Amino acid sequence: MVSEKMYELGTKKSTIRTIFEFGRKRAAEVGEENIFDFSLGNPNVPTPPFIKDAIVDILENMDVNAIHGYTVAPGHPKVRETLAKSLSKRFNDDITANNLFITAGAAAAITITFKALCEENDEFIAIAPFFPEYKPFVENVGGKLVIVPPKVEDFQIDFDAFKNKITSRTKAVIVNSPNNPSGAIYSEDTLKTLAKILTEKEEEYNHPIFIVSDEPYREIAFDGNIVSYIPKIYKNTIVCYSYSKSFSLPGERIGYILVPPSVTDFQKIYGAIAGAARVLTHVNAPSLWQYVIAKCADKPSDIETYKKNGKLLYEGLTDAGFSCVKPQGAFYLFPKTLEPDDYAFCERAKKYDLLLVPGADFGAPGHFRAAYCVKTETIERALPLFKKLAEEYK
Ligand code: PLP
Repeated sequence: MVSEKMYELGTKKSTIRTIFEFGRKRAAEVGEENIFDFSLGNPNVPTPPFIKDAIVDILENMDVNAIHGYTVAPGHPKVRETLAKSLSKRFNDDITANNLFITAGAAAAITITFKALCEENDEFIAIAPFFPEYKPFVENVGGKLVIVPPKVEDFQIDFDAFKNKITSRTKAVIVNSPNNPSGAIYSEDTLKTLAKILTEKEEEYNHPIFIVSDEPYREIAFDGNIVSYIPKIYKNTIVCYSYSKSFSLPGERIGYILVPPSVTDFQKIYGAIAGAARVLTHVNAPSLWQYVIAKCADKPSDIETYKKNGKLLYEGLTDAGFSCVKPQGAFYLFPKTLEPDDYAFCERAKKYDLLLVPGADFGAPGHFRAAYCVKTETIERALPLFKKLAEEYK
């Protein structure tokens, strides 16, 4: 009667959903302030005031039908022109309006890109730990997600393992740096090695292998860590960007796909992206939000809270005996669990109302994810509880 696959996807509770529901139930029992919910990647930094100013300006000064009307599917040409200028200047590239396709956030950008690229039996490589939605997104377009195990010492890439996963059917490698859930940023060396391997494999198999660079956390980088502009390192890179995290706008659904001019057969790829967007019923990204991001194209992101929270949580957890890679960006810590079974560990943490996500959900068992996009005070009050939890294992 219905697609069993869709039914399963729509009704099977994700771990995060289950944790969220547990948190709601406990909040009703012990009070909201006594729940330490580190499970959600929802930005807590207030949406910057320049966003409100831009909205007001647009509402007061633009033609109302234009504000709420359709735009062409890739996005209003003037909006794309403005973003293209801003990106060209920032990344020293020759990006024009024709290289950009505005989407409803990164999720849409990635899905449209996968759909555009995927031919029968194609494989997409994800490097663990990875954003779990990649699996349904890739499978939905008929592709197969191939997973490279994590390099747990630093969450860069285990290149021996990586090489073993590339086949003649590899269509793309998904890169997500700064990374959800590890907080790692791929170094320039890592990206150069990745580029070298892919270039050799492209020659061996005689077809392009793309990097799909999923970059919702691009602006959130700490302590001098640099988020490289990957198209300058590897030409067949398609960038998927979102304003969900950088401007705290996750509910508004706005982002873009950048197909840089360097990409092999650029016109064909861009055309396929337009076709994929069409069948996925994209129509156009929300018009008002297109105008807003054009007005705010050169505005900075406020990352101070994430920087402060990351340091506080990292130092507190390592002090309590946890082993953890120092956060470089995004707003997640990904420490080792204190017992091999990460589900059992996260279950035990619930005793202290610490809500954590098991690493196995991200392809890296033996770890847990703590999202620190929470109030600093929540972290301060949670640290003694993490200490008590750690003491249970001594
Ligand atoms: N990619 C990664 C790695 C994410 O963490 C998220 C959201 O948390 C997304 C994509 C989706 O972002 P958006 O809200 O822009 O669709």
